[in-house]
Amino acid sequence: MSKATDYLQSVYAVIEHRDPNQAEFLEAVHDFFQTMTPVFEKHPEYIEANILERLTEPERVIQFRVPWLDDAGHMCVNRGFRVQFNSAIGPYKGGLRLHPSVNLSIVKFLGFEQIFKNSLTGLPIGGGKGGSDFDPKGKSDNEIMRFCQSFMTELSKYIGLDTDVPAGDIGVGGREIGFLYGQYKRLRGADRGVLTGKGLSYGGSLARTEATGFGLAYYTDEMLKANQTDFTGKRVAVSGAGNVAIYAIQKVAELGGKVITCSDSNGYVIDENGVDFEVVKQIKEVERGRIKDYADRVASATYHEGSVWDAQVAYDIALPCATQNEIDGAKAATVIANGAKAVAEGANMPSTPEAIAAYQQAGVLYGPAKAANAGGVAVSALEMSQNSMRLSWTFEEVDNRLKAIMQNIFANSVKAANEYGVSGDYLSGANIAGFTKVADAMMAQGLV
Ligand code: GLU
Repeated sequence: MSKATDYLQSVYAVIEHRDPNQAEFLEAVHDFFQTMTPVFEKHPEYIEANILERLTEPERVIQFRVPWLDDAGHMCVNRGFRVQFNSAIGPYKGGLRLHPSVNLSIVKFLGFEQIFKNSLTGLPIGGGKGGSDFDPKGKSDNEIMRFCQSFMTELSKYIGLDTDVPAGDIGVGGREIGFLYGQYKRLRGADRGVLTGKGLSYGGSLARTEATGFGLAYYTDEMLKANQTDFTGKRVAVSGAGNVAIYAIQKVAELGGKVITCSDSNGYVIDENGVDFEVVKQIKEVERGRIKDYADRVASATYHEGSVWDAQVAYDIALPCATQNEIDGAKAATVIANGAKAVAEGANMPSTPEAIAAYQQAGVLYGPAKAANAGGVAVSALEMSQNSMRLSWTFEEVDNRLKAIMQNIFANSVKAANEYGVSGDYLSGANIAGFTKVADAMMAQGLV
């Protein structure tokens, strides 16, 4: 065993010992470490600096009570989190997730991924993540508002435009950011740079809503082109029906592909005419309904219960845009049997380690989340820039910058993979490119 693999194993053992029950966090760290051997072989100075034990321990973890009153007058309590993971290259940046599954392990896995994703954007943002186990499903606007106000009452003590800038994630969109920002303003004064994903009338950026989905399509397009193909005439399976999926569907269609599926946690639709993103948007964002409604409205669509990744239907490209671990080893086998030649991740960590191994074994092109879905946070950073400059760029200007950033992310991942002897491995390339920048910043700043 080399000194590098020895080091990786010993640090992993420390983390596992500290947090044996944090399954998602351990999975994210384990996946990451598996790609790090060439880096630690080349840079013994990172071992000397014990960089991985430092990097895997968040700089700060904040956990708090979120009391709120429901419409029936019941006093409810949820648990709130903010993990300020790493600020080596800039203020903590990352979304807030509202979902009943949220716990410290999930927020830590997301925050850990965010460090490298944000580094890959080339913009000066560190990594953080937060959220709550509050379930927004079925709640009234007023309940959502009271929850957001209570959540921000506590969170406001720890954030700021130069320290920590939250945004949306699952369960947090424009409505929630509005309520959160309103409460921040009451408590601390107007400070647009403290949240991103804001409405256009109060400091938001054009193209922020579309950014993650568009960015995923741009990244995938780069990956396909590097392999002598593109979206033209390709059948594409998308999971999810939220902010990422909706705009991925739109952009894939613009780039010449045909998206034939989308889904929610109950089931999925197949639309052989190509999923109409406007209908999905109306159902999910305006009516806050279920994806089943799509099949009731669109004659060419059929609705099925269960996971879209168990469906036996032919497609060339898979874009998981729902949630973590949505594709396990068995589902990956189905995806491959369905004909997928490329998988790119719109959600964070949607593929289990077994799924990734299956893609690699089958020679399926694989665009990992931290590279493929970095468009959202990249445009968040552009929103921060516009807020600081007190001006607004046009949609076209932001979209062009987004496209350039996604092209750079792909190019830098390829370059890092080549440099470290793992050509064609976009996962290793993304991890290495994201990591080395953060590690060098930490080294330069001494033992922090
Ligand atoms: N939640 C998104 C992500 O996973 C966006 C975060 C942000 O804009 O700060 O990257």
